[in-house]
Amino acid sequence: MNGKLKTRVVIVGAGFAGIEIAKKLHVLGAPVELVVVSKSTSFEYYPALYRLVTGALPIEVSVPLRVMLPQKAIAIIEGTYTGLDQARQVIMLADGTAIPYDYLVLALGSETNYFNIPGLPENSFSFKSVKEALRLKQHFCTLVSKCKTLPREEAVALLNTIIVGGGPSGVELAGDLKHYLIRVATEFGVDPSMVTIDLIEAANRVLPTLPEKASRVAEARLRKMGVNIFTNRALQSQELEEIALKDMDMKAGTVIWTAGTRISQSYVNIPNVTFDERKRIVVTPTLTLPGDNHVFIAGDGASTPYSGLAQTAIHNGAYIANAIARLIKGKIVRAYEPEQPSFVIPIGNNWALFVHKSMILTGFIPWILRNAIDFRYFIKTVPFSYVLAVFHKGKKYRKVGGGCPVEPIT
Ligand SMILES: Cc1cc2nc3c(=O)[nH]c(=O)nc-3n(C[C@H](O)[C@H](O)[C@H](O)COP(=O)(O)OP(=O)(O)OC[C@H]3O[C@@H](n4cnc5c(N)ncnc54)[C@H](O)[C@@H]3O)c2cc1C
Repeated sequence: MNGKLKTRVVIVGAGFAGIEIAKKLHVLGAPVELVVVSKSTSFEYYPALYRLVTGALPIEVSVPLRVMLPQKAIAIIEGTYTGLDQARQVIMLADGTAIPYDYLVLALGSETNYFNIPGLPENSFSFKSVKEALRLKQHFCTLVSKCKTLPREEAVALLNTIIVGGGPSGVELAGDLKHYLIRVATEFGVDPSMVTIDLIEAANRVLPTLPEKASRVAEARLRKMGVNIFTNRALQSQELEEIALKDMDMKAGTVIWTAGTRISQSYVNIPNVTFDERKRIVVTPTLTLPGDNHVFIAGDGASTPYSGLAQTAIHNGAYIANAIARLIKGKIVRAYEPEQPSFVIPIGNNWALFVHKSMILTGFIPWILRNAIDFRYFIKTVPFSYVLAVFHKGKKYRKVGGGCPVEPIT
C-alpha cells in the first residue's frame, strides 16, 4: 500500500471501462485513493459519433471528465501513459511523471488500423473521435459548396462517398449520411440527385459478425435508402480521390475508413505480455495480467469474449471494480463471466435493427430503444442537470439548421 492508509488504484484510460471502474469503486465506498489518467480531458461516446457528422453538437457526444467524475474523490491527471515497471509498481507518462500504484487498470481502448495499405491514412477519413467526426463534417461542407461551380461530371465524382467497412459503424454512417448530404446539397443549391454513397465490405455480407438474417435486413434497408452496397471487395490501395478495390477502381470525393481497429499501441510496451490471434492481451480468468494480480486489463484491450464493444467494456469495468474492492478486504475473487451483447443499429431516420442471439426486430421500436440506451447511459453517468442543459442546447441548434457551418468543439 505504499505506506499509506488507503490503497491507491490507478486507472489509465477514461473510456467506457475506465469510467465504469472509477464510478463503481467510488459508489462501493472502497477505502481507495482513486487516480484516473487520461490523455483526453473528455469522455467520448463513440456509439453516437455518427450523429455528429449529421447534425448533433459535440457536447452531445462528449462530456468533460470533471463533469463525469466526482472531483473531490477522484484525482484526474491529464497525461499519456507510456509504460509500466511492475517490480516497482509504477507507471510512466510521456512528460516523465512516474505514478505509483497498488492496483493498476489499463483501459486504453483501441485505435484505427490501416493494415499498412499505401496512401490510406493520408487520403481517407477515419471515424474514431469527436475531432475526426468534425473534420469529416467540415470536409463535407467545403466539398458540397465547391460543387456549386463545378461541371456536373466533376461534381458527381466529388459527391460520391465511399465508406469502407460494413460493420455496425459503417452501416450506421451510411444510413445517416445519405439524408444529411442531400440536405446539405439542397442548402447550397447543388442538385441533390448527384449525391451517392457506396458501402464496401470485404466479407460476403454487411454486418458479417451478426446472423445472416440481420445482414439481409440491413442490406435491404440501405438499398431502399439509395446506398450502393459492394460485398466481397477488399481494399488494396488508395490514391487521392480514387480507390482500387480487388477488381475495380472507383472515384470519390470522400473515403471513410471504418474497416479496421487494433488495440491501443500503448499496450505493446508491457513486458512479457502474450497476445491472442486478434492481437488482444491474454488475461487470467480474473482479467489480470498472468503472473501479476495487481494489473488488470479492461475493455477492448483484453482478450475476453465479445471484447470490442462498449457494453463489454462496461461489464469488464463493473467486474474489476468489485474485484479490487474484494481484494482490498482480503476476500476471494470469482472468475469473470462474460455477458452476451445485444446490438441496436440505427439505419436512417426513425429506424433501427435490434439483434439479440437469433432474435431480430426492426423499425421504430428498436430505434426508440437505441435512443433510450444512449439516454440511460448518460443519465447514469452524468449529472441530470448537465444532460438537460445539453439536450436543450442540442434541440435549439438543430432548429437553426444543424448542417453547415460546423460548430467549434465545446
Ligand atoms: C464509431 C464507433 C461506434 C461504436 N458503436 C458501438 C455501439 O453501438 N455499441 C457498442 O457496444 N460499442 C460500440 N463501439 C465500440 C466501443 O466504443 C468500444 O468497444 C469501447 O469504447 C471500448 O471501451 P474502452 O474503455 O476499452 O476504450 P475507450 O472507450 O476507447 O477508452 C480508452 C481511453 O483511453 C485513453 N487512452 C488511450 N491511450 C492512452 C494513453 N497512452 N494514455 C492515456 N490515456 C489513453 C483514450 O483517450 C480513451 O479515453 C463503437 C466504436 C466506434 C469507434
